[in-house]
Amino acid sequence: MSDDDCIFCKIIDGQIPGQVVDQDERTVSFMDINPATRGHALVIPRRHARDLLEIEPSELEAVAVAAQRLAGRIHERLEPAGINLLNSCGRAGWQTVFHFHIHVIPRYEGDPLRLPWTPGEGDPEEIAKVAEQLR
Ligand code: AMP
Ligand code: ZN
Repeated sequence: MSDDDCIFCKIIDGQIPGQVVDQDERTVSFMDINPATRGHALVIPRRHARDLLEIEPSELEAVAVAAQRLAGRIHERLEPAGINLLNSCGRAGWQTVFHFHIHVIPRYEGDPLRLPWTPGEGDPEEIAKVAEQLR
């Protein structure tokens, strides 16, 4: 259920402090300690799961619904110009804390965040090939 070495499990248990802003039976939401922008928060399942590939679908659903709820509150109270939800899966996918979480990041005009890839025209054959692999 919980993992002794996991900092997010410790926040849930109250062993380390966290600025909790929302919770329900399955989820807890708290402020990110290194915010990308003002209001950056994390939504996590109470039940420890390492990442997107491990989390149970019903837990994922609860976290997604909680992220939507928090995004709504951020929209109302902080009045950002937009919001990003971000999940990182695996070290190569930027994950640093291995307890599944969704970042809820308010966006403001002129904030420092940038799209992490350069959009460029794809090779239609390659796109079709990978699509075939995924069907
Ligand atoms: P990721 O890199 O996607 O795994 O995100 C992990 C996030 O957890 C980072 O944005 C960290 O700033 C944040 N974080 C790490 N430790 C804490 C903590 N004790 N309280 C709140 N946020 C934390
Ligand atoms: Zn955990």
